Amino acid sequence: MTQRKDAATSSVRPGLPYVEQSGFEILGDEERAIQQAMHKFAREVMRPAGIAIDRLSAEEAIAPGSPYWEFMATAASSGIEFDATSDDVPPRELARIQAIVVEEFGWGDAGLAVSLAAAAFPNMMAKRAGNQELVELTAGKIGAWVASQPDRGSDGTMLYPAERHALAPQGNKGNLTAKISGGDIVINGQSSAWVSNGPVAQVAILSIVADYGEGFFDGEGHPHGIEVIVPLDLPGVSHGKPLEKLGKRALPQGELYFDDVRVPVRYAVSLGEDYWHGHASTWSTAGVAMGQLMTGLARGAFEYALEYVHERRQGGALLAEHQMVQSRLGAMARKVEMMRAVARRAAEYTALSPAKHPYYTGGSKVTCTDLAFEVADEALQLFGGYGLTREYPMEKLFRDARAARIEDGENHLLNMKFGYLNTLLYQGGRVGA
Ligand SMILES: Cc1cc2nc3c(=O)[nH]c(=O)nc-3n(C[C@H](O)[C@H](O)[C@H](O)COP(=O)(O)OP(=O)(O)OC[C@H]3O[C@@H](n4cnc5c(N)ncnc54)[C@H](O)[C@@H]3O)c2cc1C
Repeated sequence: MTQRKDAATSSVRPGLPYVEQSGFEILGDEERAIQQAMHKFAREVMRPAGIAIDRLSAEEAIAPGSPYWEFMATAASSGIEFDATSDDVPPRELARIQAIVVEEFGWGDAGLAVSLAAAAFPNMMAKRAGNQELVELTAGKIGAWVASQPDRGSDGTMLYPAERHALAPQGNKGNLTAKISGGDIVINGQSSAWVSNGPVAQVAILSIVADYGEGFFDGEGHPHGIEVIVPLDLPGVSHGKPLEKLGKRALPQGELYFDDVRVPVRYAVSLGEDYWHGHASTWSTAGVAMGQLMTGLARGAFEYALEYVHERRQGGALLAEHQMVQSRLGAMARKVEMMRAVARRAAEYTALSPAKHPYYTGGSKVTCTDLAFEVADEALQLFGGYGLTREYPMEKLFRDARAARIEDGENHLLNMKFGYLNTLLYQGGRVGA
């Protein structure tokens, strides 16, 4: 009886739950310290730089002394690196730390985060290949990853001959190719205008179709390929103009041209029979990063929306006090949680799996980038008309999120590839497995 009365009259309510900077999770002390340091950099350096660069023309953005160069210099002098490679930290822990760090970069500015990622990419892939000469050649340089070309966009992501349309007699060799002869790789052609860091890069990893002496295609009409690291100060290399575009404007993008550019075969990080495995592995790494950094962007958009609903009054109350708004915030928060979980799972799988695969990381990239777009869109909607103006941060986040649904593989294509991968894996079905 007394107990029942106590329960009925008690005013003690459950306290608010514990949350980290990144929400509902428990970080270790070291992880939290890393997150806080990266968050400080993202808040104080990346975000203001990203906003400033976004408003410049593509040419102004990379002119000497621009906020882009100030940002790159600050990142370098602060020891901020995208690559979390370490011989001391076990891969599972490293994958988690990388996810925490990259989420903060994405929170700061998704365009600059991609610029940092692309800058580190040739060096990361040289390390993966265990090629010390290339590790030294790429260290401290601004890198780029050259895969897409004017006539070879999604076709460059086709790993299996069976993916080609029934009417296509052979694959697409594109506009940038290599010929291997006499210990040299000779490169000719051009990349697409989409190469991240294209106008500013000093070194690049090229993932392109190659002729080893018997033509560009195998017996099934599928192209041979090569992944090769190329210093961009070699004779025959030139840079295109920086690209004007809708989103991720803080990320310089543009063509790279190659006119009889010659490097030794030892500059290849994967070639011949190994090429498709190398390409798949490189691309898996990129796909993982996309999920992490877009989680950061979505978290940023959600936080702006949370702040705004506590300021704006309509219908006689703060927006935050309306149940419909709370429901919309709940949907956004769930999406951010979902993205983080998927991005972390893809990072861990890719770090630990004996056979990782870009069609899986492509699937995780689609989940994260589509959800990031939905969160950015809803955050803008919560700002009402103000969301469309340059006075508020939403329209930039919306544009940045939009770009990610095409970047690193167009989302419909990647979705299809993840489905295709499942049909390959489970040809007998999974029932009763
Ligand atoms: C922000 C950003 C950064 C990027 N960074 C880089 C980089 O660093 N390096 C690099 O090399 N590239 C980069 N890219 C290029 C990117 O990888 C390509 O844009 C992407 O792969 C799609 O290629 P595409 O633009 O040529 O489109 P396309 O392949 O021409 O696709 C156009 C449309 O056709 C559809 N389609 C294509 N093929 C098929 C098919 N087989 N069946 C049915 N439908 C199909 C697609 O779904 C899409 O809707 C970047 C792009 C962006 C937006």
